[in-house]
Amino acid sequence: MRVGFGYDAHRLKAGRDCVLCGVKIPCDFGPDGHSDADAPLHALMDAILGALALGDIGKLFPDNDSRWRGADSAVLLKSVYALARDKGYTLGNADITIVLQSPKISSYIEQMRAVVAEALETGIDNISVKATTEEKMGFTGDGSGISATAVVLLKN
Ligand code: MG
Repeated sequence: MRVGFGYDAHRLKAGRDCVLCGVKIPCDFGPDGHSDADAPLHALMDAILGALALGDIGKLFPDNDSRWRGADSAVLLKSVYALARDKGYTLGNADITIVLQSPKISSYIEQMRAVVAEALETGIDNISVKATTEEKMGFTGDGSGISATAVVLLKN
């Protein structure tokens, strides 16, 4: 078994789509970035790459490469997971935490779990998505950004 941890953060910007764990949340602002800036999926990809000791998503999908502009992170996640499968690993479980002051995302959590489970070819019981705030402290608290962490267990 191998364990991996991932972290990501993005600025929030007016007019950007708010796509979190592959689910579009109705909101007039969203994470800014070169790809769709889906911070929880970026953290999850880095956790998988970390478990495999294969570097990070910046190495795999450089943000100066036009191929990844506006990229759907759920598609990128599938290609990262293929690297794990190629090495003989399957997902044990994944645990993601999204840190965001607003909007409230609790009603989208089940949909997010389903998207991640589908991308990682596993059951929804193996995918945890949690949401929290930082009580109006720091960059997530003042609404200037979003962060996310993820832990995965891979097994062979
Ligand atoms: Mg990112």
